[in-house]
Amino acid sequence: MRIMDLIGNLKPYQQEILYRLINKFSAINQIDISKEVSSVPMQCRHCGHSEFVKNGTYKGRQRYKCSKCNTTQFADANTALYNLKLKDKWVDFVTLMLETKEHQSCRQIAEKLGINIKTAHNWRHKMLTSLNELHHLEVEAEIELDEVYLRFCVKGRIGKEKYTEYYGSKHPSNKENELRKEEKKMEKESYQVIYMCEHNRNNDFNFSPIKIQKKGVVSEDDIERVLASADFKEKTVITDSEPSLRTYFKKQDNVEHLTFKSSDIKQGILKEKAVHNNNINNTMMRLRSWMAGFNGVSTKYLNNYLKWFRLINLFSLEQVKSFVKETIMDKKLYKRFRDIFLNYKNFVFQQYNHNFKE
Ligand SMILES: [Zn+2]
Repeated sequence: MRIMDLIGNLKPYQQEILYRLINKFSAINQIDISKEVSSVPMQCRHCGHSEFVKNGTYKGRQRYKCSKCNTTQFADANTALYNLKLKDKWVDFVTLMLETKEHQSCRQIAEKLGINIKTAHNWRHKMLTSLNELHHLEVEAEIELDEVYLRFCVKGRIGKEKYTEYYGSKHPSNKENELRKEEKKMEKESYQVIYMCEHNRNNDFNFSPIKIQKKGVVSEDDIERVLASADFKEKTVITDSEPSLRTYFKKQDNVEHLTFKSSDIKQGILKEKAVHNNNINNTMMRLRSWMAGFNGVSTKYLNNYLKWFRLINLFSLEQVKSFVKETIMDKKLYKRFRDIFLNYKNFVFQQYNHNFKE
């Protein structure tokens, strides 16, 4: 039987599902990666300059020479697509990563796209490293705020990272480095990774790293550091009645700070209507069950996973093109991608001068 006859025999609702799928795939396939790349102004990956002259071709691709530092490069230098073989799969990859609400392993994505697992892992963090920085939370009139605690976890690290200094070491030794010693202690003693969750009423939210510690609440200094760039002016901020938060908000002008007792909430008591962090609690419940599927998320990549969870929450299919474009246009991606390890290391050693944000 021919395909059209087969479709004709389906029930109307089944046909509708099929047509929706076909429309989706053809919309995705219409995104022309090379056209998108060529619409983005080039920036030298070496010196950041933006003027180039054509400089012959290599394997059929036009090469350009930076008119300032003379470095030769392709049009996609400094983008997520630079050095990406299998570029034609990038659009499908971005779609797959964001439209599936359930957790997805690298293996599942790799199988669907016909790429290898290591590539899937690499792409995942390239994409997230880029989209992370481009979608800031727009704080609404009322915002819930709370620290959330996740388990410190070291997962999937290879010998090289365990035993030698990862950066610049030419002579690997089998001696455990300081980082590895610290990680072992943190794993053994069940340290917690603490993030600040900002949550609009109902929909969007954001996580920012605070610190890793064994137990206890965070200090006022920590609060001040993580909220340094936050702007809650003219907003209502709702938190539990933790002393460090209260002290912090007492010093803030033009911010209305409402608090509740977490013990009340746990017992289901709502003293004042609307003064609660139920959205954070619900999001954390969903996050924990989503993360459980990954069988432990390495603290090194936690930042990316938290943003991934948020992006899945925000994503709709109409956005594929704009998301793909953003990953292509993001000229700082390579630096941030390389900095993942460095940020993690600073986080472990509580060196906060080098911030996660740029
Ligand atoms: Zn240059």
